[in-house]
Amino acid sequence: MKPAPFDYTRPRTVADAARLLATTPDAKILAGGQTLGPMLNLRLAQPALLIDITRIAELAAVREDEQSVTIGATVTHAAIEDGRVPDPTGGFLPRVARDIAYRAVRTRGTIGGSLAHADPAADWLSCLTALEAEMLIAGADGERRAPLSGFMRGAMETELRHDEIVVGIRIPRRSRHARFGYHKICRKTGEFAEAIGVAVSDPDRQILRLVASTAAGAPIAMDGGSLGLGGTRPPDQATLRQALQAAGASGDAYDLTLHATALQRAITRMQAA
Ligand SMILES: Cc1cc2nc3c(=O)[nH]c(=O)nc-3n(C[C@H](O)[C@H](O)[C@H](O)COP(=O)(O)OP(=O)(O)OC[C@H]3O[C@@H](n4cnc5c(N)ncnc54)[C@H](O)[C@@H]3O)c2cc1C
Repeated sequence: MKPAPFDYTRPRTVADAARLLATTPDAKILAGGQTLGPMLNLRLAQPALLIDITRIAELAAVREDEQSVTIGATVTHAAIEDGRVPDPTGGFLPRVARDIAYRAVRTRGTIGGSLAHADPAADWLSCLTALEAEMLIAGADGERRAPLSGFMRGAMETELRHDEIVVGIRIPRRSRHARFGYHKICRKTGEFAEAIGVAVSDPDRQILRLVASTAAGAPIAMDGGSLGLGGTRPPDQATLRQALQAAGASGDAYDLTLHATALQRAITRMQAA
């Protein structure tokens, strides 16, 4: 199948892209095209105008300060995997990037596109929620920041307004004692996850955070301290299933076991790191 006809433009600034979005009915942003391309071909999306943001220099930039690293929205998964951008996590971000899809998809797919699309099974969504990242968003009314933890409203649904663009993702730096664990359960390498577990510990900053992906919506974040995570062994399956349910996880017994398993393995990896 081929896409329905559309116009195409490639602005050079965020302001131009935001203006085009605000003034053109049915306009859509195109980043890596790894999700939007198939949606166009299947005619699940039929925009009147595609606004290609991959030539906007400020969206490809990475900024660093003492507290954080801000990764531009069009930085690709492959650039992060290869360590071509500064990593505030000492190796955790490249580790996550490596597990996203296949290299061909990672070469074009972008971190901003992944978050804006908000597939519940997407890797960045869970991992960056665990890192307490913030979205930088630009629109016709200017720029704003939003915590990633509240950004997703449901499956493929975010708080982005029609005229808004994800400009970057601000990731707080962790101390040198921070440890990370990530586990993705999928049937075949390169596929979307059936469950993702993430564990982040930073004793210097009193952070002990667990995040589990969900099948239907935003990832679930939990305080690891309340689960007695201070020791050297992960909590047992029953404890994790109970904690997931208490935090709002839905699904049947199989789903809960899958999510508890991903979480338990992420914790084990974090504790061994
Ligand atoms: C075979 C295959 C396997 C995959 N496996 C995985 C996987 O295991 N894990 C995973 O996490 N992902 C996976 N993906 C998705 C991949 O990571 C995509 O790169 C990502 O979902 C979308 O990024 P993109 O840059 O290609 O966005 P696009 O396809 O260009 O856009 C996606 C959507 O986001 C919007 N958008 C894009 N950028 C912005 C922005 N800056 N501001 C506002 N809106 C924006 C677009 O309008 C569109 O609606 C897979 C994709 C494929 C094709």
